[in-house]
This record gives sequence, structure tokens and C-alpha cells, in this order.
Amino acid sequence: MDSCIFCRIASGEIPVEFVHETEHTVVFNDRNPQAPVHLLIIPRSHISNVNDVTQDNQSIAGEILLSAGQAAAKLGVAESGYRLVINTNRDAGQEVFHIHAHLFAGRRLKWPPC
Ligand code: AMP
Ligand code: ZN
Repeated sequence: MDSCIFCRIASGEIPVEFVHETEHTVVFNDRNPQAPVHLLIIPRSHISNVNDVTQDNQSIAGEILLSAGQAAAKLGVAESGYRLVINTNRDAGQEVFHIHAHLFAGRRLKWPPC
């Protein structure tokens, strides 16, 4: 996926500081943060969104959660709390079509989020 910006970030082609990385994921700061901590957790492999999670690639969903929890602990927000969001398609406002979880933390987050 040469044209996918998150593939290019994950491969290192676009230099971005990773705040955490695992065999299957990388984690970096969102360039337009909506909270004191706003991370993106992405798989190294390209999946467009949750609609494309299948029996064959479902392990990536667990890898994203595992990496998110590790990143939260590393940044010291695991106990205070955080929110994970995965936007899918138009009504959720998905802009980048490489599956990613947003991790928001560092302030009280409003609920419901809509
Ligand atoms: P979404 O609406 O869930 O697709 O969100 C995409 C997110 O990616 C937005 O919050 C953007 O600010 C963020 N983003 C897009 N390009 C970059 C980039 N090169 N580095 C960091 N964050 C990015
Ligand atoms: Zn991609």
C-alpha cells in the first residue's frame, strides 16, 4: 500500500517517533491532539478498517488492544484512565483508511462522545 500514509509511517519511510512498538504494531502521537495524551495505535500490516477484520486477520485486533494497554502503562495513564476509539467509515468520520485506535487520556473525557 504505497499510497497509505500509515503504511509509510509503520515502515519507517515517513519518520515519526514511536512512543511504543511491538512486533505487529506501532504507536505514535496524533498530529492534531484532542487530549493531553492522544496516541494512534496501528498495525504494521494494512487493514482498512474494522469491516475488513476477518477470521484470517483477527489476531491484529488483539494486538492493537495489547499494544494500547502497554502504551497506556508506559505513559502513566493506565490507572487514571483512557479511552480507545476506532472510527469506521463516513458516519464515524474515518479519514485514514488504515485501521487505527485512538487513545485519549490526561483529562476527564465527556460521555457520550457524540
Ligand atoms: P480518523 O478520523 O480516525 O481516520 O483519524 C485519523 C487521525 O490521524 C486524525 O486524528 C489525524 O490527526 C491523524 N493523522 C493523520 N496523519 C497523521 C500523521 N502523519 N501523523 C500523525 N497523525 C496523523
Ligand atoms: Zn496502510
